[in-house]
Amino acid sequence: MTFPTHARAVIVGGGIIGCSTAYHLARLGWDVVLLERHKLTSGTTFHAAGLVGQLRGSANITELLGYSVRLYETLEAETGQATGWKRNGGLRLACNAERWTEVKRQATTARSFGLDMQLLTPSEAQDLWPLMDVSDVIGAAYLPTDGQANPSDITLSLARGARMAGARIVEDCAVLSVAREKGVITGVHTSNGFIRAGIVIACCGQWTRDFAAPLGVTVPLMSMEHQYMVTEPIAGVTRDLPTLRDPDRLTYWKEEVGGLVMGGYEPNPKPWAISGIPEGFHYTLLDSDYGHFEQIMELALGRVPALQTAGIKTLSNGPESFTPDGNFILGEAPEQPGFFVGAGFNAFGIASGGGAGMALAEWVVRGEPPMDLWPVDIRRFGRSHFDADWVRSRTIEAYGKHYTMAWPSEEHDSARPGRRSPLYDRLKARGAVFGEKLGWERPNWFAAPGEVAQDIYSYQRPNWHDAVGREHRAARTAAVLIDQTSFAKFMLQGPDAQTALQWVCAGDVSGPVGTLTYTQMLNDRGGIEADLTVVRTGPDAFYIVTGTGFATRDFDWIRRGLLDANAQLIDVTSGYAVLSLMGPRARDILSAVTWADLSNAAFPFGTAQTLAIAGAPVRALRVSYVGELGWELHLPTEYAQTVYEALHSAGAGHGLIDAGYRAIETLRLEKGYRAWGADIGPDTTPLEAGLGFAVAFGTAFRGRDALLAQRAAGLGKRLVIVTAARDVILWGRETVFRDGARVGYLGSGGFGHTLNRSVGLGYVRRREGVSKDWILSGRYELEVAGTRVPCDVTLSPPYDPAGLRVKS
Ligand SMILES: Cc1cc2nc3c(=O)[nH]c(=O)nc-3n(C[C@H](O)[C@H](O)[C@H](O)COP(=O)(O)OP(=O)(O)OC[C@H]3O[C@@H](n4cnc5c(N)ncnc54)[C@H](O)[C@@H]3O)c2cc1C
Repeated sequence: MTFPTHARAVIVGGGIIGCSTAYHLARLGWDVVLLERHKLTSGTTFHAAGLVGQLRGSANITELLGYSVRLYETLEAETGQATGWKRNGGLRLACNAERWTEVKRQATTARSFGLDMQLLTPSEAQDLWPLMDVSDVIGAAYLPTDGQANPSDITLSLARGARMAGARIVEDCAVLSVAREKGVITGVHTSNGFIRAGIVIACCGQWTRDFAAPLGVTVPLMSMEHQYMVTEPIAGVTRDLPTLRDPDRLTYWKEEVGGLVMGGYEPNPKPWAISGIPEGFHYTLLDSDYGHFEQIMELALGRVPALQTAGIKTLSNGPESFTPDGNFILGEAPEQPGFFVGAGFNAFGIASGGGAGMALAEWVVRGEPPMDLWPVDIRRFGRSHFDADWVRSRTIEAYGKHYTMAWPSEEHDSARPGRRSPLYDRLKARGAVFGEKLGWERPNWFAAPGEVAQDIYSYQRPNWHDAVGREHRAARTAAVLIDQTSFAKFMLQGPDAQTALQWVCAGDVSGPVGTLTYTQMLNDRGGIEADLTVVRTGPDAFYIVTGTGFATRDFDWIRRGLLDANAQLIDVTSGYAVLSLMGPRARDILSAVTWADLSNAAFPFGTAQTLAIAGAPVRALRVSYVGELGWELHLPTEYAQTVYEALHSAGAGHGLIDAGYRAIETLRLEKGYRAWGADIGPDTTPLEAGLGFAVAFGTAFRGRDALLAQRAAGLGKRLVIVTAARDVILWGRETVFRDGARVGYLGSGGFGHTLNRSVGLGYVRRREGVSKDWILSGRYELEVAGTRVPCDVTLSPPYDPAGLRVKS
């Protein structure tokens, strides 16, 4: 083959991810070249253990892994290249009560996501895995469709399939740099010459961070050492032995040539190549570290006593790239159009390879992901991820927690505090227990004197339950002040600002200056890409407020949507602190600190004004995410403490207290307010989400055609609000049954302190369509950790359904 001089897309890296992406892109008819510096699989792929599990916390990521399994089942027949795939099933053990709850909840989640996950007794589990000691096992879950593969073979099989579909693969060819002209990618300089291409896809494994950095693209991954042991054949180890995960002993197992492979996730992992990966690191392993592995070995011996006498073939130590949140990184870099990333696979790159390559290829072809892939989207990162030391600290924690209990509402401990509001110390002194989002410290709840100011996690009611109830009730009966400084805020200005913004907003943003619009931004399928508030601050100026975690993503979405408009989008997050004053006494309190007329006539719901408070110019937004009268006060950051003090002294006689994000969550659930990422996202339309009221069909906006078509055709799913008895503990992902048939699952769940009932939001689905009558005429149940309980389903919020309080 002569060296290619041009291609539509160049893929950098010939591990499983690059080969899978090439396979899928070529099959989509793209002219694609894959360049590998050394030989295919020579990076990390060749030394993977090869377990292929499927269940993840998100339905779509689980679906990607399920796609891998389906692909691996047929790949060998398609390409003629062996893959070593076998569907031997996967076992997961539980050795204490909380873990058993977690496993039972996972089984419910798996069924919600369409996977058959069976719950087994210890002796049933032992029948499948006779070598293990089950004396400490309480129960197990079994996924019959999990399996294992030979990582190198499966990669070579994908490469052969890619070539069969027309992809050109060049080995021993390093990509030296990406060429750009005026910010547009023009090709790659390689050790063999220049290749012209408009799209570059970086699948360089642990090399991706350094590869992307010269382009100004942040890829927050870290190399960490990961070890597994391979034994000589052991009597009783059969070819059909399922893979085994033993999270309480931090270990995983699989069969290999009659022996066992056993690896684990130690709590004190070793980062590798902190000052850079050495040159020529191909087909290379690190020195085995028996001392470090001893902690894993001890735990493993308790499970499989036969290990005592088994011969050890090798202790394989290979570096793998891990990320701060344990999920991989996919998509087009927000910093550089045309530059795509598929990297950071956290030791499940073989399991993900098929699906991730498919999704990345589709993303390249369509210019957007084929479905909601937010948990792995490269736009989930922000400022903190630019700092390699920050990323390393957080990644070490994520690695160490790979098999520890994944508690509901669990927060990270490492690399904190980072971004702090000016009120941080003051709130801390008042008992604030902080959580973290995109580097920001945010008050989650406030401990009263005598209460432990620290999260104690549980699948039952956690220790913050009563404190959150206190804040919740204050918001409903008096007033609360919430520091929401971490909100992402953008300014859009320029002669074309309104026209351009109208195209990306489904709501009408053409109202007079001072109008506040709650709106969604939609993709071509009508799916919700962003859910935010837009304030018109001038004829050609808008102030846009969105969730803390969506700073990078929403900025990117709006910027792309501006096309060639003469309008500038600027991130002003750091310039403004935000204090949300919410509750029936909010007007009384605010009136005490400003001369402005705050009556409904002068300052109605859905508008914004600039008020003078304690010497500060404060942009007050009459809006609420908790369902009460209230104002979001946006003020220049340096005034935060002064305004906070003024509000507290004015509020002292009105029962004003501080509140945090966990109270916001319980309040918004009762009110049925949707949360992007949990209840709405790119796979749900405003009509399905019950947000049709926010859509201005009379304006021209992206996604309108899809919504009109959907409105005409009828809905196949609809968001509902589910309530259940107070002792039913909801965390989200619980399955919804209607008249005994599975119809959906909860996106979010919690407790409604005013309703004194548990509350969740989720979609119910039906192939023939979901009408209001059909929804409201059913008899409903929830499956919670494997048990069915009765519940009620409504379309309107159980708290203040007429929405009178926000307008009071
Ligand atoms: C010990 C261990 C056990 C594991 N066990 C499992 C498991 O059981 N199940 C599972 O699913 N996963 C497992 N994994 C994870 C899995 O191996 C990885 O996630 C996966 O191999 C990553 O594939 P990749 O294509 O992203 O990276 P790689 O395989 O590293 O491929 C990247 C390629 O890019 C090339 N490259 C880099 N820079 C350039 C450049 N500038 N020009 C050209 N080429 C370049 C490199 O040479 C390399 O070949 C394990 C990993 C380890 C370390």
